[in-house]
Amino acid sequence: MTIAIVGGGLAAATAATELREKGYDGDVVIYAAEDHLPYERPPLSKDVLLGSKQLEDARVHDEAWYAENDVKLQRGVTVISIDSAAHTLRTEPVAGGEVTEHSYDKLLLATGAFPRHFDVADRVTNPVYLRTVEDSARLLAALKPGARVVIVGAGWIGLEVASAARQKDAEVTVYEVADLPLVGVLGPEVAELFAELHRAHGVDLRLGASVDEAALADADLVVVGIGAIPATELAEKAGLDVDHGVLVDATLRTSDPDIYAIGDVANHQHPVLGRRIRVEHWDTAIEQGKVAAHNLAGASEPYTHLPYFFTDQYDLGMEYFGSVGPEGYDRVDIEGDTDVAHGGAFRAYWVKDGTVRAAMHANDWDASDAVRDSIGTAR
Ligand SMILES: Cc1cc2nc3c(=O)[nH]c(=O)nc-3n(C[C@H](O)[C@H](O)[C@H](O)COP(=O)(O)OP(=O)(O)OC[C@H]3O[C@@H](n4cnc5c(N)ncnc54)[C@H](O)[C@@H]3O)c2cc1C
Repeated sequence: MTIAIVGGGLAAATAATELREKGYDGDVVIYAAEDHLPYERPPLSKDVLLGSKQLEDARVHDEAWYAENDVKLQRGVTVISIDSAAHTLRTEPVAGGEVTEHSYDKLLLATGAFPRHFDVADRVTNPVYLRTVEDSARLLAALKPGARVVIVGAGWIGLEVASAARQKDAEVTVYEVADLPLVGVLGPEVAELFAELHRAHGVDLRLGASVDEAALADADLVVVGIGAIPATELAEKAGLDVDHGVLVDATLRTSDPDIYAIGDVANHQHPVLGRRIRVEHWDTAIEQGKVAAHNLAGASEPYTHLPYFFTDQYDLGMEYFGSVGPEGYDRVDIEGDTDVAHGGAFRAYWVKDGTVRAAMHANDWDASDAVRDSIGTAR
């Protein structure tokens, strides 16, 4: 039996790893558009920019692993179509060349997401959209002392780049249309702490402001981080159900019984949260990769793991567990020292109807397990 994995990022590599670790002995083929060994993206906006990690360190496995584990990794090829009735897919080399057809028995879509473009910036300059090792290498080369860096969007990537740029003594201006950075995820109480953190490190944070062409044209470097769009085109062409991501059931199966989808591209019916959720996190790529591997090999395991993510900015490290959801929260309880610009450590709990829906800590690593375990408890 052949399992075809379309992608070549962390979710794809984790699924292949789990298939072999759990003893699956059929064929496993990964079709990867990027010409690299599968790698993790979080270091691209953190350690790699600070020079404390090389791009090679972000690899999931070295090259020998794929041969030793009989995982056929086809790099630099795009899957251009899937014929789900015939159980075939067609690939085309990214560099151009012959289209070839391959058959599969089960297929895993792990096509990830791509950065949302900002047309004004595209027109005025040549912005960096940070997604790949090439993007990170370009940033690394440009982040020099005194460089005037304009960042559009105060989301995770924008703020992590701001942190790296300030640590390299660049002049940083961040434009964000919302009134606070990260306010959609964290709410105003904790979002305010991130605003203070960046201001304390010398970032010119322009909130409630959209960037104008003059500011873009004037910058030495423009970085745009305004969100990602799930790479659903292939799934749509294949006739799969798609709505803000490829729709998958609790077991990560798409509307085709022989096709699963995971990671940034998957919009999952989460059995514990009781709603659909598409999560763009490192941990989800890994954990969904494992469950999908079991199910591709014949199990029917629901994916129940709750969302988790982390970020590093300056000396602040944080972990966030759970998900508040569209109905919001009644209150957020904050315990500890919120002066994170000066090493403060705190925990925060988002509470709805007397139950903790999400919780985080900043700089309080011993609290990690307790914070995670608080999700779903009364408060
Ligand atoms: C700069 C950066 C920093 C991040 N930092 C954090 C962090 O601190 N914490 C956190 O939790 N998360 C972080 N993330 C998010 C995390 O990296 C993603 O959630 C994760 O990479 C998702 O993995 P994936 O395998 O689903 O998708 P991807 O990593 O996007 O991989 C998908 C791959 O599929 C390929 N592909 C797409 N279509 C095709 C096709 N038709 N044929 C062949 N190949 C195809 C793409 O080229 C890509 O290589 C960060 C992301 C970025 C970009």
